Amino acid sequence: MNEQMQTFPVVEVVEHNPTLKTFYFKVKTPVKPGQFVLMWLPGLDEKPFSVSDQKRGRLEITIKAIGPFTKKAMELEPGDRVGLRGPFGRGFEVQDNALIVGAGCGVAPVRFLHETAKRMEVNTTLLIGARNSAEVLFKDQYVDEGATIVTDDGSLGGKGLVPDRVREMLASGSYSTICASGPEVVLVALRNIAKEHNLPVQLSFERYMKCAIGICGQCCLDGSGIRVCVEGPVLTHEELEQVTELGLPHRDATGQRPEKPGICQA
Ligand SMILES: Cc1cc2nc3c(=O)[nH]c(=O)nc-3n(C[C@H](O)[C@H](O)[C@H](O)COP(=O)(O)OP(=O)(O)OC[C@H]3O[C@@H](n4cnc5c(N)ncnc54)[C@H](O)[C@@H]3O)c2cc1C
Repeated sequence: MNEQMQTFPVVEVVEHNPTLKTFYFKVKTPVKPGQFVLMWLPGLDEKPFSVSDQKRGRLEITIKAIGPFTKKAMELEPGDRVGLRGPFGRGFEVQDNALIVGAGCGVAPVRFLHETAKRMEVNTTLLIGARNSAEVLFKDQYVDEGATIVTDDGSLGGKGLVPDRVREMLASGSYSTICASGPEVVLVALRNIAKEHNLPVQLSFERYMKCAIGICGQCCLDGSGIRVCVEGPVLTHEELEQVTELGLPHRDATGQRPEKPGICQA
């Protein structure tokens, strides 16, 4: 795999629930936690996905079905071929005593970070949040490992929201940084909490992407010129300082920003 498209067969599919699946490919190109690839479904489109782990020559991509591409991806079976190119973007740095937070499908990139830290014998703490038990990715593994889990409805782990749990964890423990991925409303809350505690952050953001190599400008962040596909998707406090569009509705494929309230204005 590299910046040129190559096709790979799916070697295994793990179903977390009918709309949430992990796909495995034999890809040896080294990928860093937090980096992403573009997946091409012939005849349909090409879309960005984080790598959720890479080990023993197998690359893992975890997909949530929300629209035409991701719903079609749910039909993939072992032996089906898809196009992959990448890896793209700047990922997470593994840091001792990091609080690693994944909310919803945002567990995908931070899972790779946490698994990498374990393999390097670097001590980190993992917090996973989801709407309900069925939406918790790699549930069996994380329950076995004793990761902290919160669900909105309390169907697994503690009942509550990720930012509230992070506040509690910071009140009772000390961490070197917060590394997180998830819905932007969660990332904005974590950024503010981290500032209150004077903690550095590595936060992974999503924007509509086309080229993924920094040419088209589709994923530029207003106020900063940061291209999420090249300088991101993982950004720090310093990089986020100039960004004026955090929490606003994301630009669509035309580059227009839909006229609806942002998460910080609603
Ligand atoms: C760096 C990055 C990493 C991602 N990692 C994952 C992951 O690990 N797992 C996962 O399930 N999803 C991930 N996504 C989101 C995934 O790309 C979208 O869910 C997918 O493109 C939706 O396509 P669709 O046709 O199914 O839905 P659509 O109905 O077309 O879109 C649904 C939503 O996805 C967003 N989206 C659509 N096309 C793109 C695009 N080309 N680039 C970015 N966003 C788009 C739209 O803005 C919209 O909000 C990631 C996105 C980015 C930018």
